[in-house]
Amino acid sequence: MDRARPLPSRRRLLKGAAFAAVPYALLPAGRAGARTGVVDYAPAEWQAASSENRTAAGRPGDYTIDRVIIHVTQQSYAGTLSIFQDPKKRVSAHYLVRSADGHVAQCVRESDVAWHAGNWDYNTRSVGIEHEGWVEKPEYFTDALYKESARLTASVCDRYGIPKDRNHVIGHVEVPGTDHTDPGKHWDWVRYMTLVGQAD
Ligand SMILES: [Zn+2]
Repeated sequence: MDRARPLPSRRRLLKGAAFAAVPYALLPAGRAGARTGVVDYAPAEWQAASSENRTAAGRPGDYTIDRVIIHVTQQSYAGTLSIFQDPKKRVSAHYLVRSADGHVAQCVRESDVAWHAGNWDYNTRSVGIEHEGWVEKPEYFTDALYKESARLTASVCDRYGIPKDRNHVIGHVEVPGTDHTDPGKHWDWVRYMTLVGQAD
């Protein structure tokens, strides 16, 4: 992790309350890491999963993050947020990307372990990204969804030093022991990985 840690400017100190509006990425890591309700990826909207659906952790200090796991929800965007917010569901992901416009919601802090892989080792070492849609309905995999998801994945890879290749950006179907098939045969991995490589 290579987060910039600028000292607060005199102007910022004087402005006091305005400090709260500073993007997360600009805050000192120790302070920012203890906060909830603040996104790790600036374009994302915070939409908290229930605290019963994740494991509080101090990643990447206690667990190395070396994978991004790609999912498809089999559920609407709103339905997925409701599931993540229901403490009885015992499931979550760090991010959810909306089909129509590529809007990104963050539901679990990257420092915490989200429950998406069905495999504790892979949960602890990964950032999970859900995509609104159904594996058998490729029309949900829009240009906007591919583009915005690829920007998100590129950001995660850059921030944790994860290689942008298919050994490190994997589908849920590739998690050992899983019975899930997502993102499925209609997910265009060549297109996606090209976009990840091109994202700035
Ligand atoms: Zn999945």
